[in-house]
Amino acid sequence: MRLGRERRGFDALSLLRSRLAVWRMPHADPAPVLAVSEIENAPDFLRKRQTLAALVAEFGYDVSKVTLSPQKKTFNYLGQSFTSEGQSFPDGRIEIFYDPQMSDARLGCCLAHELQHVRYFAVRHAYRAEKSDGPLHRRFAKYAPELLAAQRGVSIYSNEHWDAWKGDAPPKLFSLELEEGESEPINETIAEVAKALYNWGPDVRINALWKELHDAINEEHAALRSA
Ligand SMILES: [Zn+2]
Repeated sequence: MRLGRERRGFDALSLLRSRLAVWRMPHADPAPVLAVSEIENAPDFLRKRQTLAALVAEFGYDVSKVTLSPQKKTFNYLGQSFTSEGQSFPDGRIEIFYDPQMSDARLGCCLAHELQHVRYFAVRHAYRAEKSDGPLHRRFAKYAPELLAAQRGVSIYSNEHWDAWKGDAPPKLFSLELEEGESEPINETIAEVAKALYNWGPDVRINALWKELHDAINEEHAALRSA
């Protein structure tokens, strides 16, 4: 028994030694932080940038407005650190943050989500510019704050925005959600509808009211563009 115990002790020590040897090997060191120029010239970055441009063209969007950024964007939210996959701006620019782990399928989903934000921003801008009895106000009047809040989101990500909402009352469609409640439940839920439709196709099972609102926004966006 004693011998057995000694043998086990020896085995444990040699196992520890072999593990330490692995830790000391150069490939086990943490990856060095690459300079932006190094990332931008890496074959994987260049390939992903091409894939992204092809996807943007497929979506019928302006390729010059979408960039693949070598910068990693992390943000703190509810005490946790998150890495953002993309960002869109009211002027139509979209930035996708390069992630070596991101598959082409996820790149497409990310783009679908961000492009929906751009369309939402455009319709929101037109809505806020017209009179309170204008055609957009009339068309979207049925989507009352209480009705939307009762549905909540369509994905884990969009539900996080509903949970994080800090406004006194439920968010209003086309309001400046981020300023009013520190999250964007409506804007993000509609972007997640677009992502689901892209990922799973038009027959995806999704909340009917959000799908209807998503379609209405895209219809009005198309009308604005052809006007
Ligand atoms: Zn988003």
